[in-house]
Amino acid sequence: MKKTVKDIDLKGKKVIVRCDFNVPLKEGVITDDTRITAAMPTIEYMVAEGAAVILMSHLGRPEGEANPKYTLKPVADRLSELLGKEVIFAQSDVVVDDEVKAKAAALGGGEVMLLENVRFRKEETKNGAEFAKELASLADIFVNDAFGTAHRAHSSTAGVADYLPAVSGFLIEKEVKFLGSAVEDPKRPFVAIMGGAKVGDKISVIENLLKKVDTLIIGGGMAYTFYKSMGLEIGTSILDADSIELATELLKKAEAQGVNMIIPVDVVCAKEFRNETETLVCSREEMPADMMGMDIGPKTVELYKAEIAKAATIVWNGPMGVFEMENFAKGTLAVAEALAESNAITVIGGGDSAAAVEQFGLGDKMTHISTGGGASLEFLEGKVLPGIAVIQDK
Ligand code: AMP
Repeated sequence: MKKTVKDIDLKGKKVIVRCDFNVPLKEGVITDDTRITAAMPTIEYMVAEGAAVILMSHLGRPEGEANPKYTLKPVADRLSELLGKEVIFAQSDVVVDDEVKAKAAALGGGEVMLLENVRFRKEETKNGAEFAKELASLADIFVNDAFGTAHRAHSSTAGVADYLPAVSGFLIEKEVKFLGSAVEDPKRPFVAIMGGAKVGDKISVIENLLKKVDTLIIGGGMAYTFYKSMGLEIGTSILDADSIELATELLKKAEAQGVNMIIPVDVVCAKEFRNETETLVCSREEMPADMMGMDIGPKTVELYKAEIAKAATIVWNGPMGVFEMENFAKGTLAVAEALAESNAITVIGGGDSAAAVEQFGLGDKMTHISTGGGASLEFLEGKVLPGIAVIQDK
């Protein structure tokens, strides 16, 4: 178990907190503040406990240079509105300078300030020790609450913990609790659902999950690489040619390990890769040479719903089809609805499946939706995430 802000005395302490304020902006205006509101419980708790709170984050890819396009000023303004009091914005092209240090030193208990975009500094993404030391010099304690960057060893996510005791905020606590217990100590039957475009990207996740799950369900574009490995005609479907052999190996591994690995039995095919086009529903043995697979078919949907209904823990990563197009979203919607209706612990890996669940308005029906695409995949791969490894154990 990792220490959280609840395990330490915050009164009168200066706390530097890594948040994920990487929000979408259009002409300097925040178009979706979900990431800011998600960070509020941790910030409000620290304020209520009397800590002086120094927030830091990256925003976009300024490539190690100060760039007004990527300033965190709009985030400071929104934070002030949400907190109902001023959040001091410590603007500096170098993030930490003498003026910023003075502001941090003068910050009182219950007050909040936000540093400038940490990626204005080249050293940040290289985990530069000097920059980490500068950040650490502002505070007594480091709190990591940015799960989306926890798989990166950067100065503000990991390096800073070389100089300060580190604990997690509530967001990382929740991610570790649900992703961790799903993978390490799942209630059984444990079903994993993997989809998305390419098998290649998810090989290590599938390999790791094969050691843990009772049933592994495959969907999305990656299904056709499995079909190919089974010697089936896949027409013009997306194919990850480099992964055909790997797909064969994964099927063999599943069998050897006694995992029920299920590949779609029927397909919604399309003539062209667009919503309005000729379609055909057929079994996997009957795919026409001039069509592509765009979604799982109705028989597969029923099969997958039955597996989901039996599960006690479900982890889902990657859509079942091209869900961005209405005509090919049915499989993904059906899986999302089956998860929403299930009594199982439902954990949605970040990225496209999280977007799909939110798009269908089913977000609040899931046990946990991970906020980090890359980070949740690495977690499911069984990798140690540097931003979590630095947090002290209880
Ligand atoms: P990933 O980033 O690997 O999780 O893949 C997500 C993307 O896979 C989404 O944009 C889907 O539209 C796409 N996808 C899912 N099924 C298919 C398919 N049958 N053919 C092409 N792309 C697909």
